[in-house]
Amino acid sequence: MAKILDIVTHPTPSLNEKSKEVDLSILKDKDFQELVSDMALTMTKKDGVGLAAPQIGKNIRMIVINTKDGKITMINPVIKKKSWRTDVDEEGCLSLPGIFCKIKRPKNVVCKYVDPNGDEVLIDAKGFMARVIQHEIDHLDGILTIDRERMQKKK
Ligand SMILES: [Zn+2]
Repeated sequence: MAKILDIVTHPTPSLNEKSKEVDLSILKDKDFQELVSDMALTMTKKDGVGLAAPQIGKNIRMIVINTKDGKITMINPVIKKKSWRTDVDEEGCLSLPGIFCKIKRPKNVVCKYVDPNGDEVLIDAKGFMARVIQHEIDHLDGILTIDRERMQKKK
């Protein structure tokens, strides 16, 4: 049975660390598969649209996102292409309860990742989904919305 994991909240130093790539040889491990289901359940129960592994205390490059077509687990996600068009929207974060930041991001992204079966997938994400993916990948690079907002203001 999947369990609900504790969410790591700001300020916690590990949230600002760059996470390590997942070694694909662990995909078949029971512990890893449990982690995938636990993260999906945690995201659902906490009403998140996405969750990155550092938010549950594991600094590995894995995220789960909730889309209208169901939950997607992305292992070692990489953004391959970004649109030059951007938009600005308010983003919340389970690690920053009650804090909303206006973040400017590319509108569309092409993202490559490995699914839990070990298959490589390329997706063309637009609008809200593109925003969620970028937000979660930021977590893997140790960047929170408050950091992004600060970076934007400096420009
Ligand atoms: Zn977040």
